[in-house]
Amino acid sequence: MSGPGGVGKGTIVNALVERDPKLWLSRSWTTRGQRPGESDTAYVFTDRDAFESRIEAGGFLEWTNFLGNYYGTPTPDPVDGRDVVLEIEVDGASQVKAVHPEAVLIFVLPPSREEQQRRLRGRGDPEDKVDQRLQKALDEEPVGLAIANHVVVNDDLERTVQEMMEIIAAYRPKG
Ligand code: ADP
Ligand code: 5GP
Repeated sequence: MSGPGGVGKGTIVNALVERDPKLWLSRSWTTRGQRPGESDTAYVFTDRDAFESRIEAGGFLEWTNFLGNYYGTPTPDPVDGRDVVLEIEVDGASQVKAVHPEAVLIFVLPPSREEQQRRLRGRGDPEDKVDQRLQKALDEEPVGLAIANHVVVNDDLERTVQEMMEIIAAYRPKG
């Protein structure tokens, strides 16, 4: 799953994994600092040296530099038939698609730019981060729309989660 900052990706994936035990949510590494109020388990919060060592050891399925920080998906362990969920930006999603063409890319859009801004502010992002993320969204969206298998507008959260569950169900073997 990809989408611009503040669109609601984290909220949606948390709801999905809570409802569907067959989903396995990958925990990314990042060099960004933890936000006030953010869960300790949202990421593996790490420093640049440790991140670069892991890159050299080939320990990431994909990684990128996003607004000055590293973000990466540790190469997932085989997970007993569960479906791996990644919540990552579009450069990483392109890398995953190159290695795993069977990956299903869902791109999430906000109902409007104003609502995206409200959500970023509501989450407590400082004003400079809000501006950076809105600006970054303008670059990311055309790429995201081009590579996505599905595009979902996150207007009403419950409706969005239902739509995502239907998309996932459609890719699973029947019966
Ligand atoms: P992202 O992971 O895409 O950056 P978050 O999941 O952190 O976004 O969501 C940003 C803010 O928007 C959070 O405060 C979250 O509670 C809120 N939010 C998420 N989805 C919705 C929605 N459908 N309607 C209103 N607020 C939402
Ligand atoms: P945030 O700082 O808002 O948590 O995340 C910034 C961006 O990085 C978001 O678009 C988020 O989806 C993305 N991201 C989070 N983890 C990873 C990852 O492991 N790899 C990549 N490529 N992007 C990630």
